[in-house]
Amino acid sequence: MAGASFERRYTPFIILALVAALVLVLGLWAVERTRKTDSVAAGPAMLAGQYQWKLVTTWPKNFPGLGSGPENFARYVDEMSAGRLKIHVYGAGEIVPAFEIFDAVSQGVAQAGHGAAYYWKGKIPSSVFFTTIPFGMNAQETNGWLHYGGGLQLWREAYAPFNIIPFAGGSSGVQMAGWFNREINSVEDLQGLKMRIPGLAGDVFAQAGGTAVRISGGELYTSLQTGVIDAAEWVGPYNDLALGLHEVAKYYYYPGWHEPGSMLEFIINRDAFEALPADLQAIVTYAARAANQDMLDEFTARNNAALEDLVSNHGVQLRRLPDDVLLALYRGSETAMKQLVADDPMAARVYASYKKFYDGVRDYHHISEQSYINARDLVIDAPAAEGGAP
Ligand code: CA
Repeated sequence: MAGASFERRYTPFIILALVAALVLVLGLWAVERTRKTDSVAAGPAMLAGQYQWKLVTTWPKNFPGLGSGPENFARYVDEMSAGRLKIHVYGAGEIVPAFEIFDAVSQGVAQAGHGAAYYWKGKIPSSVFFTTIPFGMNAQETNGWLHYGGGLQLWREAYAPFNIIPFAGGSSGVQMAGWFNREINSVEDLQGLKMRIPGLAGDVFAQAGGTAVRISGGELYTSLQTGVIDAAEWVGPYNDLALGLHEVAKYYYYPGWHEPGSMLEFIINRDAFEALPADLQAIVTYAARAANQDMLDEFTARNNAALEDLVSNHGVQLRRLPDDVLLALYRGSETAMKQLVADDPMAARVYASYKKFYDGVRDYHHISEQSYINARDLVIDAPAAEGGAP
């Protein structure tokens, strides 16, 4: 029959045409669906696949050192994503004041932030471990604990209730003990002293007879100048010179017992992070890792020249804290730590992880870093042998 012959001849083509039509419809549906998803994540004004974030910081805009962290991060993300994710960095006070950036990122007012975890101690007691604790680990050791010792997972757990994902955001290395308007010869000299000193060290300072005050970097100079505070710690020579603290205090003390390796943080709103495609999530992650290392490199390179400038050209009096003051501050640190872990179960868990890692790395660094530094001082600073090589 002609009909049967027609069907035999044309059925394969009809099936092919139907399949092609189905593929076309599904394809159009998928494109439309992707376009809609992208527009929700990136905001209505953005083109598909383009994202714009606001990043708020606790530093003055374009502040060197600490402030280079968020600027580098934004630049790395821009370059690696070929401009698909633009991050605009805002200094303290431009969108929110310094100490309100955590809430701003938590609530999605900004997608990202850069500051220091110990600023949120009142809200999250365990946060102090993620910046620094008195007589704790240095920068190298803290990076090891965070990235290979379980520290970062605990940090993310601590911030999860706030819809925030933290990333290591650069380290200053060992800081300076701070700026004082009088010499500190004994613990008695700390009595009644009002000092800007954040984190757990603030509790220690209070136990030693002083008063700890929380002040952001941008307000430090004026606070010291007008006598609102008698002393202040900020960072180290490079960043303290930039803030001009030598103009309002004379004595510059070391070592930074209270901040032996202060780690800063990038904080990212979880919804904003999860709205990114996988490749942009990876770019954000590795840009933070690169900015983290870069900051330590910059401080390492610039601190000594700044210290020489402070001492040689600005008449700064460099002093070491006496041993008995350091011992008293250590005893105070032990008391403050006991109180912290007794009051907060999460702080107790983080302390257990931190302490285990610290004990191990300190043992090894006795025979590696510390032993080498002692050895190089021994040979380099030794008087030249008579008749020896020049
Ligand atoms: Ca500091």
